[in-house]
Amino acid sequence: MHIHEYQAKQLLKAYGAPVSDGRPVLRAEDAKRAAGELDGPVWVVKAQIHAGGRGKGRFKEPEAGEKGGVRLAHSVEEAAQEAERMLGRTLITAQTGPAGKTVNRVYIEEGSDIESEFYLSLLVDRKSSRISFVVSTEGGMDIEEVARNTPERILTFGVDPATGMQPFHGRKVGFALRLKGPAFKQCVRLVAALYRLFVEKDLELVEINPLILTRTGELRCLDAKMGFDSNALYRHADIADLRDESEEDPKELAASKFDLNYIALDGEIGCMVNGAGLAMATMDIIKLYGAEPANFLDVGGGATKEKVTEAFKIITSDPNVKGILVNIFGGIMRCDVIAEGVIAAVREVGLKVPLVVRLEGTNVELGKQIIAESGLNVIAADDLADAAEKIVRAVKG
Ligand code: GDP
Ligand code: MG
Repeated sequence: MHIHEYQAKQLLKAYGAPVSDGRPVLRAEDAKRAAGELDGPVWVVKAQIHAGGRGKGRFKEPEAGEKGGVRLAHSVEEAAQEAERMLGRTLITAQTGPAGKTVNRVYIEEGSDIESEFYLSLLVDRKSSRISFVVSTEGGMDIEEVARNTPERILTFGVDPATGMQPFHGRKVGFALRLKGPAFKQCVRLVAALYRLFVEKDLELVEINPLILTRTGELRCLDAKMGFDSNALYRHADIADLRDESEEDPKELAASKFDLNYIALDGEIGCMVNGAGLAMATMDIIKLYGAEPANFLDVGGGATKEKVTEAFKIITSDPNVKGILVNIFGGIMRCDVIAEGVIAAVREVGLKVPLVVRLEGTNVELGKQIIAESGLNVIAADDLADAAEKIVRAVKG
């Protein structure tokens, strides 16, 4: 789960990390009061969406000379105007995809005087199985280019879980950023705070880009991105409360309410499968036969008829779906339950695209019989390759 920058900064502040004072604004009429509570002479107005690259982003239907989703203002009135101008519009960045994201919240912050911009993040490095720091002196909006062209300027090191965080880790970061004096000491404290936050709140990622050195020689977290392990949210009610459902794919949101493992993709073939491994194999074989999957969907082992119906409805609600492949290997899952779920869903929402069903395993004969007697226009398949070939042919002709 991801949260907004302003929420991440509140958490950073609670852990003692240096952030600027700011106010989130959800309604344009509150912008002026919020800006008025902050000190100038410069204010920063930042679009709050769950995507990075806002500074270099652009709004849909831009006004003449309009800049991206991070703007400097030089008076309370100007800050309020910028906030009002952003709210409700669609911001397109390198991370949102071409459709962009609606700006429902902005964050107004006291502006900082920047001497230099660094990059600092913490993540779980899957290769070493360690919480690792990623550090670079080349922070700011071009970190992706640094990674591409001069990767040697990005340093990574892990923390041994047996010893945990030690002061030398903080000094390593300080040396990597070539900090001196008070800023160096501040860095050591910041690194310790980030690590504590990361572990205590079950984070998957915290990325400070940029971490800045101000003209007066202090470190400050100017941007903050945080991702949390969704499987651990049950023990962090405070974090779960920060969830902003309007930022999520509506299909994925509906799926999560029914405990379905669903991920929306860009292709044209909707898949309903049981078991993550079989779902991956189904996606692979769709590609092998020349088409692209529209989603990953694992209905799970003990799916009920209602769950299957819901899964089918989510798949058909995607306008990109030009055909559906149901691929079930019934172990714990019974094929007749799947068949009943599919039929119930089709009765409810109709079927406007070809549907290929491949059933195997527990109660397979009963499942096939239910589908055959339903009068639905279903293409039956015998095995995985047969199913993939049939659905791709039905969609592509
Ligand atoms: P992102 O583009 O979504 O990563 O948004 P950031 O929060 O990282 O802001 C983008 C850029 O705006 C930063 O790299 C800074 O160069 C600039 N910026 C952000 N806040 C301030 C500020 O307080 N003062 C100044 N001068 N620039 C800022
Ligand atoms: Mg940034």
